[in-house]
Amino acid sequence: MKDVIVKKSKIEGSGVFANKDFKKGEVVLKWDTSKQLSTKEVEKVPEDEKKYVSFVNNKYTLMRPPERYVNHSCNANTNVGDFCDVAKRDIKKGEEITGDYSQDTTPDFEMKCTCGSKNCKGIIKKE
Ligand SMILES: [Zn+2]
Repeated sequence: MKDVIVKKSKIEGSGVFANKDFKKGEVVLKWDTSKQLSTKEVEKVPEDEKKYVSFVNNKYTLMRPPERYVNHSCNANTNVGDFCDVAKRDIKKGEEITGDYSQDTTPDFEMKCTCGSKNCKGIIKKE
């Protein structure tokens, strides 16, 4: 049985959902880091794929499924760890997994936020 499943999200498009209960501090998703990109390669990534490029530990990674389907929320339930998503609080089976893109997006990326949480910043960009 998988720890997470991908299905339609209320936030946007596809989302990643917990398929079991996670405890705070537990690794929810380990990223597939087989697609690491050089600065030159990042420039060639098509516009609609750019939101899937993460910048962590000074490395660009083209996110693979399912982790690329983790939607952003300004009130996310995971933090970015060492190429993984870590539960920020207890997460119940069936909850959508959300991440804070401002932690791992590329320095020049900006996106409008429609997460709808009370503390929504309205715009997603590198902090
Ligand atoms: Zn937001």
